[in-house]
Amino acid sequence: MKKISILGSTGSIGTQGLEVAAESGGAIEVVAIAGNRNVELLEQQIRKYRPKIACAADEEAAKRLATAVADTSAKIVAGKDGLIEVATVSECDMVLSAIVGFAGLEPTVAAIRAGKNIALANKETLVAAGDIVMNLARERKIDIIPVDSEHSAIFQCLNGEKSIAPQVDHNKTDDSYVNNAKNYVNSLEKILLTASGGPFFGKTRGELENVTVEQALRHPSWSMGAKITIDSATLMNKGLEVIEAAVLFGVDIDDIEVVVHRESIIHSMAQFVDGSIIAQMSRPSMKHPIQYAFTYPRREFSPMERVDFKTLKTLTFAPPDEETFRCLALAKEAGKVGGALPVVMNAANEVAVEKFLQGEIAFLRIADIIEETMNKYSNVSCNGLEDIIKLDMEVRKTTL
Ligand code: NAD
Ligand code: MG
Repeated sequence: MKKISILGSTGSIGTQGLEVAAESGGAIEVVAIAGNRNVELLEQQIRKYRPKIACAADEEAAKRLATAVADTSAKIVAGKDGLIEVATVSECDMVLSAIVGFAGLEPTVAAIRAGKNIALANKETLVAAGDIVMNLARERKIDIIPVDSEHSAIFQCLNGEKSIAPQVDHNKTDDSYVNNAKNYVNSLEKILLTASGGPFFGKTRGELENVTVEQALRHPSWSMGAKITIDSATLMNKGLEVIEAAVLFGVDIDDIEVVVHRESIIHSMAQFVDGSIIAQMSRPSMKHPIQYAFTYPRREFSPMERVDFKTLKTLTFAPPDEETFRCLALAKEAGKVGGALPVVMNAANEVAVEKFLQGEIAFLRIADIIEETMNKYSNVSCNGLEDIIKLDMEVRKTTL
């Protein structure tokens, strides 16, 4: 039995993680959860999953939650300290990191320091502090198993390649090849990262000038939290994922090619030096990659709908339009420059997306704001986690 803590249990990934646990026939136990201020939902989750600890976003919500579940044995905690408690609880083997944004970084780091394996949905963690997080993971000998569907796909495509890579030391158990594929799978040539293209695929800049929040939130193939849905509309999500893939698999940004694939059936591909390409496919549901992260290295039965090629018939591919969707180009640039720039880029994006969601700025301003902020902070550097946290805060305060 695997014991899981879930950071972000009330969100899109968090609730699907709980469903995967419920459908596991007792193989996956949820020992701790951390959610938002939705006390009713947290109460339901406590009654259904019986976690030992549950964290609400603030003291006020925690108080109401404690009253609501006074008849259960769940310990109720709150805020940032509560998140850390959920991330490090002694009973758990794996933490599903599914808080949205930079806020996920500190609890994820705390979980790694406590020796927990990570099922990682929170890509912003790797964008802002990739080297620190990966080095810490190696030092603590824990696995970071990607939950982002593209990265889970690549991870699955690389399975088995390890055994044929000549330089692999099979006795070396202190490092995961998955977290440094280029070193371990010398036959990997490049990563083909698929993208749905979002709700505005094919649109011109002129057509994007007056798009509404509601239109941007209408994603063609995935139902997700608001921030990542807007990121999908701007293609920033793919930009963040390029950096995430570079960090997770130890490849250069230039060895990652984004391929627009509207049907979201192929979740990404690995291309090898002999020209062979391995693709991972399934119906688009995040429960696939979540379950795989939970059960890895095993595969367990899943009742999810199968791909039916008789009705599917065609899969389409196109290059991304980086001139219209500049966020992808900006993120690639930040990833190539490295250092503090991805921290700046990520913080500026979080502020800009929030402003767009609040109706304060137009859709096309998001990329402008990110570019302006990246220019403003082009000379900053960061040394360690504290610096990154300080810089993130400063950029948020000054991004207009
Ligand atoms: P969501 O908005 O649905 O849920 C986010 C969760 O994080 C909520 O439970 C919320 O309470 C919690 N949270 C937000 N800010 C917090 C804070 N400051 N402190 C504590 N908790 C906080 O988001 P989501 O769509 O589930 O996405 C979560 C993460 O997973 C994101 O990083 C996203 O990029 C990634 N991801 C999501 C999907 C998807 O299909 N939803 C796919 C791939 C990757
Ligand atoms: Mg993804």
